Amino acid sequence: MSVEPTDPGAAPAAPAPSDFIRDIVAQDVAARRHAEIITRFPPEPNGYLHIGHAKSICLNFGIARENNGRCNLRFDDTNPVKEDVEYVESITTDVRWLIAGWADHCLGLKVKGGTPAQQTVNGRADAYAAPAPASARDTEAFFASDYFEELYGYAVALIQRGHAYVCDLTPEETEAYRGAPDKPGRDSPYRTRSVAENLDLFARMRAGEFPNGARSLRAKIDMASPNIWLRDPLLYRIRHTAHHHAGDKWCIYPLYDFAHCLSDYLEGITHSICTIEFEVHRPLYDWILQRLELPRALPRQYEFAKLNISYTIFSKRRLLQLVNERHVNGWDDPRLPTLSGARRRGIPASAIRRLAALVGVTKFESVTDVALFEHAIRDELNALAARRLAVLRPVKVVLTNLPAGETVLCDATNNPQDENPTTRQVPLTREVYIESEDFAEVPPPKYFRLKPGGEVRLKYACIIKCDEVVKDATGAVTELRCTADLTTRAGGTNADRKVKGTIHWVSANLSVAAEVRLYDRLFTVAEPGATDDFTRHLNPGSLEVVTARLEPSLATARVEDRFQFERLGYFALDPKDSAPGRPVFNRTITLKDTWAKK
Ligand code: ATP
Ligand code: MG
Repeated sequence: MSVEPTDPGAAPAAPAPSDFIRDIVAQDVAARRHAEIITRFPPEPNGYLHIGHAKSICLNFGIARENNGRCNLRFDDTNPVKEDVEYVESITTDVRWLIAGWADHCLGLKVKGGTPAQQTVNGRADAYAAPAPASARDTEAFFASDYFEELYGYAVALIQRGHAYVCDLTPEETEAYRGAPDKPGRDSPYRTRSVAENLDLFARMRAGEFPNGARSLRAKIDMASPNIWLRDPLLYRIRHTAHHHAGDKWCIYPLYDFAHCLSDYLEGITHSICTIEFEVHRPLYDWILQRLELPRALPRQYEFAKLNISYTIFSKRRLLQLVNERHVNGWDDPRLPTLSGARRRGIPASAIRRLAALVGVTKFESVTDVALFEHAIRDELNALAARRLAVLRPVKVVLTNLPAGETVLCDATNNPQDENPTTRQVPLTREVYIESEDFAEVPPPKYFRLKPGGEVRLKYACIIKCDEVVKDATGAVTELRCTADLTTRAGGTNADRKVKGTIHWVSANLSVAAEVRLYDRLFTVAEPGATDDFTRHLNPGSLEVVTARLEPSLATARVEDRFQFERLGYFALDPKDSAPGRPVFNRTITLKDTWAKK
């Protein structure tokens, strides 16, 4: 039986988001300051994206979408030492997944190969902008490394204008000369080099004449500035390293601050939105663009607070440590807050977008309660997920009055949340499994599930009564012998007869065996990242694996389907480890917050 396709990606109807950045954009639109609103999401391909990045993706792509504009996915790939194509690929996949279903036109991806920004303004040629990059490998995203030639040209222009110089201080000396936040720095002895000498040395840096670290290109700003980022920041350094995207063409690489503002400019970005730690870089961002006296409108930078979530860490370094030390099984381990982990766990992209909308955009750092994220996941899945019967820890029930080989087909509702809920049939047979937790030989008070001599309703089927408990030599329960009252089935003469408990079940011989991975929070404390020995707080119970029995329809489940195993939680097929005839399901989340009680 097939299941309705799930997670179409359409955001649920919600009021248009509003925040201080959207207000700025709205004012710019009202004032007709830009022909088109163009934003960008600029990850460095040195790790996998996480839920924190999703906030930035939703903000940047969201603003483009709401304003009929564009958002470029641009790889900020200026440091070949830490970067890799593996990350380029995972990031591209994750971004596409997260914003799937949003109008395609907002994806700057599409314009690749076209002209990312106009080359002339008022008929005047842009002195620096070369034709749009056209690399065979890029059918999708933008790469800062595609602008290396233009960036080099801009650096030469800064030198020519007396705003940059080649410095021979070693990295350690440069650091020492920089001073401290409360102590001015000292001028480099190379600061007064002539333009001609600087041009010559910079060309020779590019030509590969000098070893790593021997020289650098620095902006000539102010070594006494209270803003440390303005104390003659590095613009280029020597790195004899091939680049994952640019190949082995370069041995000098621009630094973030130099490459970023100019990449924004080259792509015609109108609003360059980043997180708060870049606020102190903004004067440098503006300084570089202004000193070049560029012909087109300049991009402007705006900052917002990062997303932090309790019981979670987002630090790339620490995520890498969890992966390398095998506390988790790779970057897409469903317990990690990476987007690939979330996807594998079965979290719909719409739930992550909903979280982003719920937390909003402000300038104040705070920690979002993970319960809010879990609430968003449950809300989305409640609407999306098809209800199914599955038993995680089976105990056998023999319905002694049902002949072997007989199958009673019971109508079961697929999703009561649907406007017109559909049904499927689940087979009731002589032998069924119920959850071992749903039977108690010595029941506590107010136990409404199955007990010796007691009655319970098998959901969608009928009431059964427990006549006999069969045990093995060790005293473990091996079988419950019960009678089924088929007159209590839907449409039966006693359909209305009520018992206090209703439990889930599956046919023993017609059910499907499956590995089910029960995930829980990865950390036991709310702020695991507070100390360096954060691995001490790993939750030893974050993964439990059981062999479950599933109703037959789940044999044809597809990776994109979402299920609620009734009374148990939300589950999805594991996209990596499932094989035909050997399904593996991941528990995305339990039905209720089990941590709230703790
Ligand atoms: P690092 O710079 O240390 O490698 P990063 O997480 O900042 O790590 P980037 O690739 O630079 O990684 O991030 C891409 C974009 O995502 C940046 O604009 C960054 O500001 C934003 N971003 C990163 N973490 C968060 C977060 N927790 N919340 C919101 N935005 C974030
Ligand atoms: Mg960063």
